[in-house]
Amino acid sequence: MAIRNIRIEGDAVLRKNCREVTEMTPKIAELIEDMIETMYEANGVGLAAPQVGVLRNIVVIDVSEEEPDPIVLINPEIIESSGEQTGDEGCLSLPGKVGVVTRPDYVKVRARNEHMEEIELEGTELLARAICHECDHLKGILYADKAEGPLKEVKKESEES
Ligand code: ZN
Repeated sequence: MAIRNIRIEGDAVLRKNCREVTEMTPKIAELIEDMIETMYEANGVGLAAPQVGVLRNIVVIDVSEEEPDPIVLINPEIIESSGEQTGDEGCLSLPGKVGVVTRPDYVKVRARNEHMEEIELEGTELLARAICHECDHLKGILYADKAEGPLKEVKKESEES
């Protein structure tokens, strides 16, 4: 496993659409392992493949506060959403900043896991926010596009994704 370099806003790769993953290969498996390691090393709650420069439909998320419990979503598609939450959001590709974004408070996502098995995952609160944020990355969308008002500068590095 290896830590990969996180791309920062302004890098064109963050603005492109990702391609579907059709089969698990050693290269994709290695990418997923590296993404998980890179997310933890950066204290993020999520990371999308374009953030490490790879235009594939893969995200990793971990909103757990104690033991690491990474979720891998390949080709994720949000199939249900409801409610609303408004709060601060950050991104490892926009370090040191947060912005206020309104997201659904509940989402259901259909995806494949790291074994390419079809799964459905429901999330509320922070998990719902992280799923929406990471799925946006796969379409070249950054949270700053959706933030209300200007982004704020912060010093803490937790809860970025
Ligand atoms: Zn992000």
